[in-house]
Amino acid sequence: MKKPLIKNRHINFAAFLIIVFCIAYSAEVFARAGGGGGSSGGGGDGSGLIGLLIYIIFMIPFPWNFVVIGIIIFVGWLANKKQKQQSVLNQLPMGNAGDKLKALEKYKLVNPEFDAEAFKAKVKTAFIQIQEAWMLKDMSKVRKYISDGMYQRLNIQFKMMNILDQKNIIDNLLVKNVYIDKIEYDGNFEIIHTAIHASIVDKFVSAKYPQLNNGGAEEFVEYWSFIKKKGIKEQNLFNTQNCPKCGAELPKNAGDVSQCSYCKTITNLGDYDWILSEMTQADDYISIYSKVSKESALSMKVQELCKTNEDFSIQNIEDKASNGYLQIVTAQALKDPSIMRRFVSDELFEKLKVFSDSEIVYNRFYLNDVTLIAANVIDNKNVLSIAIKSSYQRVMLKDGKAILLDQVVMSKTETIQMSRDVAPQLSKGSLYAHVCPSCAGPVKDTIDTKCQYCGAELNSTKSEWIITDVLGVSEYKNYYQSNKDDLVAGIDIDKLESLYDVRDYAFNNVLVVMAADGVFAEEEIMMATNLAKKWGYNLNRISPMFEMAKNGGLVIRMPDDMKKRQKIFRLMEKAAAIDGTVSPEEKALLDAVSLQYLKTE
Ligand SMILES: [Zn+2]
Ligand SMILES: [Zn+2]
Repeated sequence: MKKPLIKNRHINFAAFLIIVFCIAYSAEVFARAGGGGGSSGGGGDGSGLIGLLIYIIFMIPFPWNFVVIGIIIFVGWLANKKQKQQSVLNQLPMGNAGDKLKALEKYKLVNPEFDAEAFKAKVKTAFIQIQEAWMLKDMSKVRKYISDGMYQRLNIQFKMMNILDQKNIIDNLLVKNVYIDKIEYDGNFEIIHTAIHASIVDKFVSAKYPQLNNGGAEEFVEYWSFIKKKGIKEQNLFNTQNCPKCGAELPKNAGDVSQCSYCKTITNLGDYDWILSEMTQADDYISIYSKVSKESALSMKVQELCKTNEDFSIQNIEDKASNGYLQIVTAQALKDPSIMRRFVSDELFEKLKVFSDSEIVYNRFYLNDVTLIAANVIDNKNVLSIAIKSSYQRVMLKDGKAILLDQVVMSKTETIQMSRDVAPQLSKGSLYAHVCPSCAGPVKDTIDTKCQYCGAELNSTKSEWIITDVLGVSEYKNYYQSNKDDLVAGIDIDKLESLYDVRDYAFNNVLVVMAADGVFAEEEIMMATNLAKKWGYNLNRISPMFEMAKNGGLVIRMPDDMKKRQKIFRLMEKAAAIDGTVSPEEKALLDAVSLQYLKTE
């Protein structure tokens, strides 16, 4: 029996139109999924979709088949649009936001005396003073209210800049808005994450290597995190140079330690006022901070595990980790093992002390993010793993010339492990701040691992957190897999950046490519704008990225997954060729990215 499939010519024509439309539509979905990186879950099976449509057209009577298909197309379009709008990049902050009132109200229930306006005035003062200190390469005025890790971060930059005879000249600084974004508790401490919206003219200048000069006007939102102990009487470290405890004048040349010469109190441990402990660019803040908070299950467990005194906090551990990591990087750049000897284990020292022959220094080196990701107990020691994301641009010095090894700023993640005895002795000071934990005597950079005053072994896990290993991403993954069952708690390292979709990486990297030659040409802006629209970005939201790219503030980002990397790289190639030619700068950059991220070992 033959059943007439086609009932009349109208349906036939309608079906034809719909099939054509659907093929065109699904092809477009594929272009995004594969070519545009659109949906991470892939566009589905196109032939299955067409089969279903044919089924609907012929099995559902006219005109309902039409209606059903119309609905399917509309829902599909909506889902696609919605999915695109969920990009983490669409969560980039607008500068004009206000305090997060819920967080603030909750905090004020416990701290009724807290004055948000006075706090924000401090933040603004800190912001302006630190920019000035940074330009003058002199931290003495701000030392009293910044953490040791923050001090080392800035100080190490100065050391690197000095090798290249660089200055960072800052002009026209304008703070447009300051608002409280998030308030967290961390052991006996409180942390306020504050967003700062500002504009600045910022130029890196070197008389010796002028080819490295760059910078210009920029506008940005940055997150500054301040920490203090719970329940202390808040004083004001920001507008005075006097000791908060005894009133004596604080030393004018404070370095590794911020201590009053008279009463010996340390000013920057959160006993007196808010202490600046972290600065985070908006693009890092949105991608990592929402994932790992100081109140996560992992943080809570570590609090329990390591809390041997009331001064323990995760923030403090992360501060030590960033401090130590930066000193290791500096030791390697300056080929001086004494900078790192005191706080690394003997095994790690053997691994790290092999320096490369060539003269490689950093034109830029930033710590983007430092996050505790796992905890473990081995041989009566607590072992903490801390992921450190840094961005860098290396330069080779040869015959008086500086040759850029990285065309743009690249980024990488490494994990450091720190160990301390489960039942530690009371520490009298931080080794990372050049203080002997056993006797509080000053410790110089030296390869001697014995304290010159008390003779104690410096890199001992008895009272201080000692760095025992530095692991690349895959090394850490192996560690995580083989120790998974023994971990007290841990976060999969992939999850740290999992909010970034393939297209987010690609868009970020495309902007870096476009700005590689230092100019963001009109046509490049047009192209990026079109790409942004195509990939569903809210142009207002992502406009800071254009600014950041222009000023070298965006860095090449890549996930760990090689297949994703290849996909992202293909998108970058496509974007470079979108105007018909690939310029020499673009070519050089693509080659560098390929070498850095696509080579398989
Ligand atoms: Zn004092
Ligand atoms: Zn000592």
